[in-house]
This record gives sequence, structure tokens and C-alpha cells, in this order.
Amino acid sequence: MDRLDAAWLRSHPLPPVSAEGDKNARGRVLVVGGAELVPGALRLTGEAALRAGAGKLQLATVRAAAMSLAVLVPEASMFALPADDQGEIAPEAAAKLRDRLGRSDALVFGPGMSRGERTDKLVAAVLDEAPAELTIVLDAAALTSAKGLREAVARRSGRVIMTPHFGEMSSLAVMPVEAIAGDPEAIALRIASQFNAVVALKSRSTVLASPDGQCARFEGGNAGLATSGSGDVLAGIVGGLAARGANCLTAAGWGVFIHGTAGERAAERIAEIGYLARDLVPFIPKLLAEFS
Ligand code: AMP
Ligand code: MG
Repeated sequence: MDRLDAAWLRSHPLPPVSAEGDKNARGRVLVVGGAELVPGALRLTGEAALRAGAGKLQLATVRAAAMSLAVLVPEASMFALPADDQGEIAPEAAAKLRDRLGRSDALVFGPGMSRGERTDKLVAAVLDEAPAELTIVLDAAALTSAKGLREAVARRSGRVIMTPHFGEMSSLAVMPVEAIAGDPEAIALRIASQFNAVVALKSRSTVLASPDGQCARFEGGNAGLATSGSGDVLAGIVGGLAARGANCLTAAGWGVFIHGTAGERAAERIAEIGYLARDLVPFIPKLLAEFS
């Protein structure tokens, strides 16, 4: 098992940034998620994607959340989606997203959504609508879909990254959390191979696994990372790096390392416990520059 450390980053370099490129050239990220009463997750994910160097940010959420989010993230272009009677994104939203998906390099899908049959339908429809060249980061509720997720992900020829914590992996692998905690490497490798997707299985020491059997473990970070919104920031970094052209394994590995190391910097600046997920975000650019 490799260590996901500075040497791993050197052997998986990020693509160079062209001095001539405009914002579209540096990568367009679309984040889809949130709900009427959960607008904030998309702020964390979206800002993290921009801080990871993506050129352009688009946020898509239910209309009732879109206006407050537009004010919170003035850099983003907003897209309002239809909601169901619970104020969650309705499955019909997939068809409305078609044009946006075609004008994006990476999609981050799931932050701020809740699980349920409606989400199952939405996830399947979006995975089928999305063009083949799009890289998709599935996080949070988008990973808990009960029906057909494995087939829908496997159809996408490998451009998918999944970032489950143990609870979400329990849905993906259909096994209890204790069994996952007992052998996270084996489970991450098995799910990566079955779904044909890169997996970052998140915990105290996150395990990265690729469909072709590569595996690495991140040993940094600290307990303060176990805080609301932390995973939303990680998904944003990964999506931002993927939009810049990093392959799935490189984007996920750098995302896990930079997110965990940002936790170490936040602990130095504030304290190990009690920093906020949003405190991680400003550390991202300098850490990327430092390790590139
Ligand atoms: P989420 O549960 O989706 O918000 O993601 C939590 C993030 O915090 C993941 O990146 C985990 O790897 C990280 N994390 C959670 N608990 C710990 C811990 N005790 N030590 C280090 N990192 C952690
Ligand atoms: Mg999460």
C-alpha cells in the first residue's frame, strides 16, 4: 500500500496552467445539489473548486435557495432547478441540466441533497444525460442511491470519482459500517473495480483506490476535520482539479492531501478542534502552489 504523501503528489503531477488561457480553458465546474433549507453546502463546494484553480463556477440548486446562494457566492453563475414538495431537487431537473452538463468539464453532484427515491431517479437521469467527456464527482446523497447506481456509473467509462465516508460506503457496498472499518483498503479496491470509478473512502486515514488496483493511504489531517461541511470542501477541491484537466486518480489524491493538510494549517491558526469547514478553503491555493 502506497502512502498518499508529497512523494505521491510528485509522481502524479497536476497539469500545467497555460499563461494564455482564459477562464474556460482553466476548467468549468458545475456543482449540483442543495435544497430549499440547505443552500450552504454548495457555497463550500463551489468556493473550494475555485480555490483549487478552476476557471469558472456554475451552481445549480432549487429556485428557493438560488438567490441566497447567488449573494453568498458572487463569483458563480446560478442555475435554478425545479423542486419537489419537500424543497429538494426534483427528478425532472436532469433534463433541464442537459445544456449545462454539455458546457462543463467537471460535475460535483450530491452536496446538500438528502437520500431517497427522488434522489435515486435524479442521479440515474443525470448520469445518463451527461456527455462522455465530463468528469463526475459523486458525493454525499448522490452515493446512497439504492437502485441502478453501479450500472449507471459503470456505463460512464471511468470518468467518475466517488468520495464516500463509511456510512455512504455502507450503502454502496451493501455491508455494515463495522465490516468496512475492518478492511477499508479491500472494500475501496473492490468498489473501485465494480463501479469502474476512483474511490476516496474517507475516515481518520482516507484510502484512495483506482479501478486498476492502485491504492494509497493518507495519514495526515486531524480530528477537527470531522465537522459539518468538511466533505463538501473536499468534493469541491477534487472537482476543481478535475476541471483543470487532472485525471481522476490525480484529482482525488491531491484533493484528499490538500484537504487534510488544510486541516493541519487551520489547527495551527485556530485550534485542532473548532475550526469550520469554511476555514479550510483559504489555505487551498497556497498548499497547491507549495506541493506543485
Ligand atoms: P464528511 O463526513 O463527508 O463531511 O467528510 C469528513 C472529512 O473529514 C473526510 O475527508 C474525512 O476523511 C475527514 N475526517 C473525518 N474524521 C477524521 C479524523 N478523525 N481524522 C482525520 N480526518 C477525518
Ligand atoms: Mg459528506
